[in-house]
Amino acid sequence: MNGLMMQQQLLISSLLVHADRHHADQEIVSRRVEGDIHRYTYRDLARRSRQMANALAALGVKDSDRVGTLAWNGYRHMELYYAVSGSGAILHTINPRLHPDQIVYIADHAEDQVLFFDLTFLPIIEAIAPRVKTIKHFVAMTDRAHMPRETKVANLLCYEELLEAQSDRYEWPQFDENHASSMCYTSGTTGNPKGVLYSHRSTVLHAYAGALPDVLDCSANDSILPVVPMFHVNAWSLPYVGCMVGAKMVYPGPGLDGKSLYELMESEQVTLSAGVPTVWQGLLGYMEQNGLRFSSMKRTVIGGSACPPAMTKKFNEAYGVHVLHAWGMTEMSPLGTVCAFKPKHLKATQEERYAVQAKQGRGVFGVDMKVVDPNGRELPWDGKSSGDLLVRGPWVIEKYFKGEGGDPLVDGWFPTGDVATIDADGYMQITDRSKDVIKSGGEWISSIDLENIAMAHPAVAMAACIASKHPKWDERPLLVVMKKPGAEVTREELLKFYEGKIAKWWMPDDVVFVESIPLGATGKMLKNRLREQFKDYKLPTA
Ligand code: AMP
Repeated sequence: MNGLMMQQQLLISSLLVHADRHHADQEIVSRRVEGDIHRYTYRDLARRSRQMANALAALGVKDSDRVGTLAWNGYRHMELYYAVSGSGAILHTINPRLHPDQIVYIADHAEDQVLFFDLTFLPIIEAIAPRVKTIKHFVAMTDRAHMPRETKVANLLCYEELLEAQSDRYEWPQFDENHASSMCYTSGTTGNPKGVLYSHRSTVLHAYAGALPDVLDCSANDSILPVVPMFHVNAWSLPYVGCMVGAKMVYPGPGLDGKSLYELMESEQVTLSAGVPTVWQGLLGYMEQNGLRFSSMKRTVIGGSACPPAMTKKFNEAYGVHVLHAWGMTEMSPLGTVCAFKPKHLKATQEERYAVQAKQGRGVFGVDMKVVDPNGRELPWDGKSSGDLLVRGPWVIEKYFKGEGGDPLVDGWFPTGDVATIDADGYMQITDRSKDVIKSGGEWISSIDLENIAMAHPAVAMAACIASKHPKWDERPLLVVMKKPGAEVTREELLKFYEGKIAKWWMPDDVVFVESIPLGATGKMLKNRLREQFKDYKLPTA
């Protein structure tokens, strides 16, 4: 017997309609590429998204056509989130930090029909326009006054002109919730990037889960500043959560340096932010140098790579900001786990709480996870047994776009490529990316643990631990360190810093100091580059 409830489809447009009805005068504030601060309301967002949906139809965009964006976090990008997906087309957010060759590859692979871009990225557009195969229109996300006067791009269209030519009357179409809504390509450090195609259903369910108290804990009383880019995994769903709960949204545009972020957080009384650890280093450094404090910030979500406990401690003790350590991936929309406390942790000591926060957290309802040994046998949740982490759930990938790479699943589970433990309370901790593990004498050493310790040293700005060849042990840890500007520390001092914090055999065999550590397009350390750079390095112990 079926239930007798309405079969209402979970559609992204319904989030916008909800925000328009229930939170019409809530603000959306954006730092613009044009240099100023723009502010309007959810009512304006809804109206302009309807106009943009009409404009897309006028450009010939049809159901399921891919529409690309190369854009910062801002209100026009948010309009495209709703106008493109809401009208039945597919929003393809492209990471502008990728190499132009990769952008051409993914725009062609996705068969994008239109590409919207922020003016900052005009040089990229000029480089790719003669090469891409399917894009019919390039649209600069600005007004007539700011349109480039001279450009090599033929028939460049202007966002505001397209919009102004259209009526704001538009009925959002109703269709199956499994219809594709948006897509994002994986970072592709090995091989070509692969497309991940989200659906309306997966996106709306993921937004519900994201807003929960033990997840991102969002409400109409929040002012949310997503530093995590809208071009990478839908800014961890915050532009959808914003409409769902009616939160004030604050978008930093191109201003991702410490000063710009701090000023916006203060002027817009931001309560919640989210981003990768490297971004927060810039902000914390700026605040420290200038002796600044927050007046409204309460919590920040940190994920994308491991949040060093030293950062959690700094946020908490110096600035009164609670860190929510989170883990996920492009293939998971992205939320998998978030590190929220259980009641027993509230009675624990501060140091015990930091130890919990070093973990990536508990599975969000909707994400089932397990760790397995090399034979695929499930390992116990004891906080010690580490193995390959597998996940499944309604917002986890089943297949890549166009079936690229074959069937990614193993018995219905998606192998994340991460190595992790899960403890008896269900807290998962990533010890490594499987290709980054250091295997010494047949045993694994966690590079993340070693990096976290180095990052707690006051002179260290960034640290990466990689496997270096060793005649006896196969591999041994080599610590690559970038110092803070003006700070001094020696190899011996750093090694001494590890004493008592790790098992003796985990001690890095050597330390090398570098000017900079290479970062990928999403702010993660490129350890494969470092491994290449140090492939002939001879350890003193070898
Ligand atoms: P991406 O698909 O580019 O977002 O990358 C996903 C990968 O980033 C994961 O598989 C992890 O290896 C890594 N990652 C994400 N969040 C964390 C975290 N909190 N700690 C450690 N690694 C993380």
